[in-house]
Amino acid sequence: MANHSKETPMMQQYFAIKDQYPDAFLFYRIGDFYELFYDDAIKGSQMLELTLTSRNKSVTDPVPMCGVPHHAVQSYIDILVDKGYKVAICEQMEDPRLAKGMVKRAVIQLVTPGTQMPDSPGKRQDNNFLTAVDELGGQYHFAYTDLSTGEVRVTTLASTDDVRNEMLALQTKEVVVPPDLPDDLAQALKPLNILQSAQDLPENTAEVSYVRQDAANAGQKQVLARLVGYLLATQKRALAHLQKATVYAPSQFLQMDHDAQVNLELTSARRDGKKRGSLLWVMDETRTAMGGRLLKQWLERPLLSAKTIKARQDKVAALVDDYFQRSSLQDQLTKVYDLERLAGRIALGSANGRDLLQLKASLEQVPGIMATLQQLHSESFTSFVKAMDPVPEVAELIGRAIVDDPPISVTEGNVIRDGYNDQLDQYRDTMHHSKRWIANLEAQERKVTGIHNLKIGYNKVFGYYIEITRANLDKVPAGRYERKQTLTNAERFITPDLKDQERLVLEAEEHSTALEYTLFTTVRGEIQKEIPRIQQLAAQLAALDVLQGFAVIAEQYHYVRPAFVEHQQDLHIVNGRHPVVEKVLGPNQYVPNSVTMNQDTDVLLITGPNMSGKSTYMRQLALSVIMAQVGSYVPAEQAQMPLFDHIFTRIGAADDLLSGNSTFMVEMMEANDALIHATPRSLILFDEIGRGTATYDGMALAQAIIEYIHNRVHAKTLFSTHYHELTQLADTLPKLKNVHVGAAEENGQLVFLHKVEPGPADKSYGIHVAKLAGLPNAVLQRADVILQQLEGKKRVVPTPPEPAAETKPAPAAAPAVAEAGGDQQLALFQPQTVALTDSTEQFIVDA
Ligand code: ADP
Repeated sequence: MANHSKETPMMQQYFAIKDQYPDAFLFYRIGDFYELFYDDAIKGSQMLELTLTSRNKSVTDPVPMCGVPHHAVQSYIDILVDKGYKVAICEQMEDPRLAKGMVKRAVIQLVTPGTQMPDSPGKRQDNNFLTAVDELGGQYHFAYTDLSTGEVRVTTLASTDDVRNEMLALQTKEVVVPPDLPDDLAQALKPLNILQSAQDLPENTAEVSYVRQDAANAGQKQVLARLVGYLLATQKRALAHLQKATVYAPSQFLQMDHDAQVNLELTSARRDGKKRGSLLWVMDETRTAMGGRLLKQWLERPLLSAKTIKARQDKVAALVDDYFQRSSLQDQLTKVYDLERLAGRIALGSANGRDLLQLKASLEQVPGIMATLQQLHSESFTSFVKAMDPVPEVAELIGRAIVDDPPISVTEGNVIRDGYNDQLDQYRDTMHHSKRWIANLEAQERKVTGIHNLKIGYNKVFGYYIEITRANLDKVPAGRYERKQTLTNAERFITPDLKDQERLVLEAEEHSTALEYTLFTTVRGEIQKEIPRIQQLAAQLAALDVLQGFAVIAEQYHYVRPAFVEHQQDLHIVNGRHPVVEKVLGPNQYVPNSVTMNQDTDVLLITGPNMSGKSTYMRQLALSVIMAQVGSYVPAEQAQMPLFDHIFTRIGAADDLLSGNSTFMVEMMEANDALIHATPRSLILFDEIGRGTATYDGMALAQAIIEYIHNRVHAKTLFSTHYHELTQLADTLPKLKNVHVGAAEENGQLVFLHKVEPGPADKSYGIHVAKLAGLPNAVLQRADVILQQLEGKKRVVPTPPEPAAETKPAPAAAPAVAEAGGDQQLALFQPQTVALTDSTEQFIVDA
């Protein structure tokens, strides 16, 4: 700590506090302003566009300073925290008028990116997850929470890759770590560039032991303690809304790594990161913010259990079937406020009278919602409704205690209803009585003095007074009136009686305001005890909201209920569509395509020109799988599918911005991930694998990867390629089928039909396009001849133009892979199938 003894007492106090929060902007309350000093002021004035001034301008070494008015402080805090900084809010802890010596000050809250409460309407549907990670016993323990809702989850992960993946998927802005962060974790976290906040293990507070009571091991207990410890250290108050941590394992859900979620545009479009254009955009017909958040969570973690999925589907079906009840349900849900965040605000002590009325209004919808659900006459809702608890005591208490139109402030009165508390009623009586006395005084004094324009007035400095115009001063009753103030045209007087009544009014007002605040916090405290019930109700309403949204989209876009065939890998989607492209194009514009992969088909090799719809076809399947496994209907006329355990993607050409790897490296890493981790129950989408490198090794790799999947992995795989030669693999790989997306010429124009057909694509397509582009006939004819020559050379084995030893063809006699059996060492280059150039180069073919 620096020596600040030469500073003024206030600056000494400032430094004592600032030294505890070196990594935060300190907002130091002085009167009606929060002031920033020194570096905080210099940086803050730039970021907040404030004027930089200085304290003690006269001295040689003035203190840089800038300030924000207290009523506008929240928006300034938000700006800094949104930029990734922390803000320590330092308040005056006593009334400066009453303080002896220096006003006591203390930091009442540390606002950080991971603990910020998103209050703006745009963020209502977003969670803000604070994460924590710890290492114990050779494993990584990972937890996360949303402070605004109090939900907590914890898991144990095997690798730092898994940790990174969870953190990316949660889009966390801040991670709580041990002060002595182990090296491997430090290395793994570094490229993520997420704010790391070190936290010692806290004492075992009520919150800590409650949250971690279901933890599965010591590591989970430890990471939860750190997470909760950090919340307590930053919020500096009891956190009654923190929920028991739910233990989860990523493998309980359909797994997709973060890149796959991004590639598939699950919750945001790749183009701009916005919701529009994503699957969430199509599926979000929720009426509440809670439902919106839950839908997003469901989409990121689809289910693996047919039973649970079916339970969701049954509810959707009931809602699809009864338009009338569904509409009432929607109306009712629309009137439900964000119960999760209301519960959070109540626990944090920041809920005001209006929040309580929102809570009441929401709870009052619940009996009606239960009745609506009963009207559906569906067994699927029986136990659901039975478990619903409208928490009636809370609604009743709020109705009894809180006025209909409370102000924003909870400290200035007018919050508590008449009749709720005797003492308060008495204060109010006194106030009314005295005010009436004062109001009557005007008429009375006019009569007594004969001054017709005598007025009773009030101002903050003098309180109540009697005002007499100059012309009437001679009529003032000298003994009774006491002069207080002289104006140009009038004089102001008081009388002892008036001052007595004024004192009564002010005292009663002061007492009643204080009492109202006490009563309000007591009511809030009573409600706080019921937070777990409110949270449980919130979870039910959120789920209900998501399910009614599924019913809406099912009907609106003509989706169908998918059937799951357990222990069977048959996939049949009849006339399926891509939900997002379909919505963008409008009704009946999307060309539906079926997908059929039964036990005899594991790999679909998709060929076709650029822009024909290969990638859309693959995405269509993946999105339908995800929709099905969250319990939604799917865009198709008929759908039967297995339950997939993992979706692997290599789609598009996104560079790995985090590690600076090349596109091709990323491509290979993603392919590798799939080859290692995919099971026969996985879905793999590979779009143009191998494109990122030279033709020969690209095609060689593509072929080797296909063979490996076909022979060893057995995952359902969609593989699109522009290497036409790969289509010959169908001859040797029995579970590989060729399909292609066609294009046709219409009136001299190339038309994409977007229709997926059996068999490989037409290989002279390139020349075809060249013709449409108007290339000279001579060129086209020459190209045709060359193509035919190349085709004719199939019986020749030329020397490969690039010296790539591993691309040499295998001896002609080598057995085909399929015959060799999947478990044997693979001979990657089978004679019949080797075709290692594109059509403009030479072929390598078996003799
Ligand atoms: P490819 O992967 O073959 O290059 P894409 O899948 O990217 O082609 O599709 C190109 C465009 O064609 C898409 O942006 C989409 O608008 C349109 N499209 C694809 N499939 C269909 C379809 N089945 N019906 C209508 N339009 C489609």
